Amino acid sequence: MSDRECIFCAIIEGHAPAEVVFEDGDTLAFMDINPANPGHTLVIPKRHIQDIYGMDEDTAAAVMGTVVRVAGAIKRALQPEGMNLVQSNERAGGQDVFHFHMHIIPRWYGDGLRLARPPEVRRTMPIKEAAGRIRREVAKVRTIAAAYTDICCGKK
Ligand code: 5GP
Ligand code: ZN
Repeated sequence: MSDRECIFCAIIEGHAPAEVVFEDGDTLAFMDINPANPGHTLVIPKRHIQDIYGMDEDTAAAVMGTVVRVAGAIKRALQPEGMNLVQSNERAGGQDVFHFHMHIIPRWYGDGLRLARPPEVRRTMPIKEAAGRIRREVAKVRTIAAAYTDICCGKK
């Protein structure tokens, strides 16, 4: 399931070059072409999934497994002093390539990278209200999953 317009799908299919560091049946890890720091690596699912909202749990687990493996390899190979995992969704979230990817970014003291929140912490919604809204939606998803399990396992 690839997207003909997608540069990461082209890399998966071998139609575009990349410095691949790890590959398995479901995932690919390769060097970012414009690294924020030495060792900056991207991990992607081989299936074209646009962003976090299109993710399924199995693919997410496969991607995270590869992230853990490659992050350990980067730590051993380059001895960074820190490591960030970054994942962006939608244009407003800073996503430029619309094929889900996790950035693994090695960090060193004084590298000048700024990935954290802006200096002024903006709170336009009380934390409790945001938590309440999210909790209601999370509960809905669990209810659907539980209902599916009951049906599939013959409880209903
Ligand atoms: P985003 O901004 O979507 O989170 O990250 C996209 C990343 O993909 C950027 O860091 C960018 O440097 C990287 N990138 C874009 N095009 C290519 C490419 O053709 N090859 C590789 N290896 N990385 C790319
Ligand atoms: Zn793609």
